[in-house]
Amino acid sequence: MSILKIVKYGEPVLREPTKEVQKFSKKVKNLVYDMLDTMYANNGVGLAAPQVGVSLKIFVIDVSEPNEPYNPIIFINPKMIKKEGAMNSYEGCLSFPKAYTNVKRYSHVIVKAQNLEGRYFTLEANGDKLLTRAIQHEFDHLNGILFVDHARDIDETNKILKEFELNPIENDKWLEEKSLEEEIKKQPTSVENVIQEAVDGKD
Ligand code: ZN
Repeated sequence: MSILKIVKYGEPVLREPTKEVQKFSKKVKNLVYDMLDTMYANNGVGLAAPQVGVSLKIFVIDVSEPNEPYNPIIFINPKMIKKEGAMNSYEGCLSFPKAYTNVKRYSHVIVKAQNLEGRYFTLEANGDKLLTRAIQHEFDHLNGILFVDHARDIDETNKILKEFELNPIENDKWLEEKSLEEEIKKQPTSVENVIQEAVDGKD
């Protein structure tokens, strides 16, 4: 197995929609194992196929703590079957080295996907905030959507991107998501809102 090169923000593959996996072949399995190696080598909690330059509907997540055994979840051809509630999320991305920002997310999701054997499974994420946002973050990668598109404050986020010599969010990509933002504003500032925990990249 090998560690793959991570595609950085600005490369077109990150903005392209992905294709469904048709055959659960050895090639697909090897890609997934390489994605896991790559995610662990970069201390990530999630990685999507476009981030290693492959336009397929595959992502992997592992939200286990560093002192716990690995607990990877593999999502192939995922579909979001429920998303509700709202939360604040401070995120980063392995394709955006060192840049983190505050984004809008749903607080409860249900996703249906296939595993490496092609078998369907359904996963509900509600209480586990890291898992809930990781699912949304990685799912977005399969549709060419990046975490900065969900920025709560676009000017602030563009300032952060500039600091790291990254391009600003393209105007037509930013998702205003007014109802999510209003819902977040109504919530009291909770501990989770101030903990600077990152999705994708854990430093
Ligand atoms: Zn990412």
